[in-house]
Amino acid sequence: MTRKVKSEELFGKTFACECGKTHRIELREVLFARGAVEKAPALCARFVKGRRVAVVMDVRTREVAGAEVSRRLASDGWTVSELLVPDRSHGHVPVCDDVTQKKLAAALGPADLILPVGSGVVTDLSRWLAEDRKLPFVSFATAASMNGYTSSNVAPTISGVKRLMWAHAPVALAADPAIIAAAPWEMTASGLGDVLAKSVSATDWRLNHLLFGDDYCARSVNLIADIEPLYLEHPDELKARSPRAMDALFRALLLTGVAMTMAGTSAPASGGEHMISHALDMLSLRDGVEHDLHGRQVGVGTVLASELYRRVLAVESPELVEPRTSPDERFWGKLAGEMTPECSAKAERMRPAAKKLAQRGEWDRIRADLAQLTRTPETVQGCLSRAGAAARAADIGISKARLLGVLLHAHEIRSRFTILDLARLVGIMPKAADEIVERWA
Ligand SMILES: [Zn+2]
Ligand SMILES: [Zn+2]
Repeated sequence: MTRKVKSEELFGKTFACECGKTHRIELREVLFARGAVEKAPALCARFVKGRRVAVVMDVRTREVAGAEVSRRLASDGWTVSELLVPDRSHGHVPVCDDVTQKKLAAALGPADLILPVGSGVVTDLSRWLAEDRKLPFVSFATAASMNGYTSSNVAPTISGVKRLMWAHAPVALAADPAIIAAAPWEMTASGLGDVLAKSVSATDWRLNHLLFGDDYCARSVNLIADIEPLYLEHPDELKARSPRAMDALFRALLLTGVAMTMAGTSAPASGGEHMISHALDMLSLRDGVEHDLHGRQVGVGTVLASELYRRVLAVESPELVEPRTSPDERFWGKLAGEMTPECSAKAERMRPAAKKLAQRGEWDRIRADLAQLTRTPETVQGCLSRAGAAARAADIGISKARLLGVLLHAHEIRSRFTILDLARLVGIMPKAADEIVERWA
C-alpha cells in the first residue's frame, strides 16, 4: 500500500532532464506510513542540526496530530514551541493572508526548524515563515486536500488580492495513511479537484510553450502518469476511501507539488481553472462571505475550462480578436486597481500570441498538439460526481450567476496566459459563457 512509485526515486536528486534543464528536487524524503507521528522526531533529526522546533497548527490539526507530535519531539530532547494559527472570528477556519502571517511571525521565537502539522493554510503560512527566517521546514500532512505540501510556492492573500510568492519546498514530509483517510471527506474531495486540474493546467503550460517559447517539461507533467488511473478510473473507490485509491491520490498530490518545484513555476498545476478558484476567493473576501475549499472550487473550474478547450480546439479557422485586458471596475470594485499591473503584463502577450496564431499552419499545429493533453468536461465532471466531490456551482455554495461573473472576469487577476485568454483571442469568449455555465454549472 505504501510502496514507492517510480517518480519518487527522484526525491533529493539533481538531474539533467530531456527538457534541457537541470532539476533539483529539494524534497529529500517522504515518510508515508502508519506510526508517522512516532517517527517524526527521527525524521526531523536527519535534516537539521539544531534541536529547537516551532510546531505550527490550528485547533483541529492540534487535536488530530499536532499535540502528539509536539509531545514526541519534546520527549526526544527537542525544545518545542507551539504556534497556534488563530481561527478567524465566529470559529471560521484560518486563511493564509498577510495579517495572520504577521501575527505568527511576531510569536515565533528562536528556532532551527519549522514543522507545520496541518493542510493547506497551515503549510503555506509555515512555508512563508520559514522563508522569512531562512529556516528549513518539515511538513506533517493531515489531509489529501491540495498539492501544495511539496511545492515551493505560497498563495497568500495580500491586501485582498490572491498573490503567488516563491519560497521553498520542505526538506521532508511525514503523513500517516490512517490520519489522511480520517480527514473530513470534503478535504479529500478537494484534493481530487486539485489533482484533476492537471489536464487543463498542463495544456495551458504547453500552450505557453507553443505560443511564446516558454520552458516546458514533459517529464514533470508525466510524474503522476502511473498512479493517475487509480483514482481517475475508480472514483467510487475513493468515495469508499479504499486504501489503494486514497494512497494514489495523496501521492499524486505530493508529486504534483514536486512537478511545480521542478518546473520552477506553478504552471504545471495551475492554469485557467485555478484562476477561477482564486477569483472566487477574492470575491468572497470582498463581500465578507465564506468560500469553499480550494480544490473543490478548482474542480468546478476544471470542468468549465475543459469545455472551453473543447470549443476552442474545435474552431477550424479562428477570426482573431484582440481582447481588452484591463480589470473591469464595475465587476471588481476597488480590487481592480490591484490587478492593473498583472493585466498590463498580460496585454503584452496578446499581440505576439495573435501574430503567432495568424501564421499559416500554426493554428492546426497548435490545436493538434494541445488536443493530446486535454480531457473532456464529461470525464472530469463524471469523476468528481462519482467520487462525491464538488462538480457544479451549487456544490460549492454559489449561484450560477456568480460563477458566470467569475468565468467572464477571472482572466483579469493574473498575467498568466491561459485558456481563458485563448478563448477570447479566438472569439469563443465571452459569447459562449452563458451557455457553458448553463450546461456545466
Ligand atoms: Zn491548487
Ligand atoms: Zn525537465
